[in-house]
Amino acid sequence: MPDEHRHHLEVDEMEGHPWARLLAAQEQAEESRDTMQTELVFYMSNKDILCDRYCTANNGPCGGRPVVRAFKSGSTWERLFIGCERYRHRETGHIFIPLRNHDPKAVLKIWGKTRSWVPEDILADLDFDWDEENDGTISIFFPS
Ligand SMILES: [Zn+2]
Repeated sequence: MPDEHRHHLEVDEMEGHPWARLLAAQEQAEESRDTMQTELVFYMSNKDILCDRYCTANNGPCGGRPVVRAFKSGSTWERLFIGCERYRHRETGHIFIPLRNHDPKAVLKIWGKTRSWVPEDILADLDFDWDEENDGTISIFFPS
């Protein structure tokens, strides 16, 4: 058998080995654990901030909490951001944190249903289902 073919065979066998699959699954689990930790830290450091935009109605800061929101158009990743719950069309100065470099599913899972004001089409795009995923209580593990 030519060396080239033998090499391919060996690779295929390796990938088919149970331990190789286990290793891959473990690496994936560690990666998603790291993602969850990162997003959890992000959540913990932002969930309690209050919007300080000056609001004429109450002659003081807006006071809205940050929630996950979405722009009307763009790609799914670019649409999501953390924004003030009291933001209204065209107002500027409210809380705004882009989520471009975040993991959208981890963000939704951690911020939870009540603090994710995200349209269905984005959820469908992400293949994210509230019924199957966490419902918003941070019962997911805390990093040790
Ligand atoms: Zn605000």
